[in-house]
Parts: sequence; structure tokens; C-alpha cells
Amino acid sequence: MTADEFERRYAERSGITVAQLRALGRVVRPCDCGAEDCEGWQSVRPMAPEERQRLIRLEAIIRAQADRAARYPHETAAQADEAIAYQLARAQYWETRLLSVSPPDTD
Ligand SMILES: [Zn+2]
Repeated sequence: MTADEFERRYAERSGITVAQLRALGRVVRPCDCGAEDCEGWQSVRPMAPEERQRLIRLEAIIRAQADRAARYPHETAAQADEAIAYQLARAQYWETRLLSVSPPDTD
């Protein structure tokens, strides 16, 4: 089965057209998941950079919350959130400052 054939069948199974499928941002990629009924292709929606960035940030928050809970077991959730928000804001501040530093002049 070619990628185009798979895409046509995938759209058909979803009850939409190939054009609609593509408009949703879905693309066909090879698949080697090893499933018995695997057709050798998969329909995926690649993540936009800002979406990926958001997920990375969420992951960092979740990790920070778990870390905080382990280190300060008697802290309330609100206190932990406040501490984490402060740390995130601080990290963002330094990130912005470091990025705004212009490279030295070379004469
Ligand atoms: Zn597969």
C-alpha cells in the first residue's frame, strides 16, 4: 500500500475527504509499530513549535510540583503553586535577560 492509498482509506474510514484530513494538519508517516493489523503507515498531526513549548513548560511544572511535594510534604498545594510560580517567573526573567544581551562589538 502506498502512502497515498493509506491516506485515502484513512480519510474514508474517518468519514472525511483527504483535503479535510490535510486541513486538520494530519500527514502520513511510515509506521513500524509491529501490530498485526499495521498497514505500514500512520496518520499523525505534527506538533507546532509553540504547542511543543507549552507541553515542555507543563512538564516542567508537573516535575516541579512532584519535587516540591517530596521536599516539603507539609506544604499546602497553594503554597507549592506559589513557590513554583515564583521560580518559573524568575527563570523566565533570566531567560529574557540572557537572550537580550547583545554580542560584543568586533572592530
Ligand atoms: Zn503501525
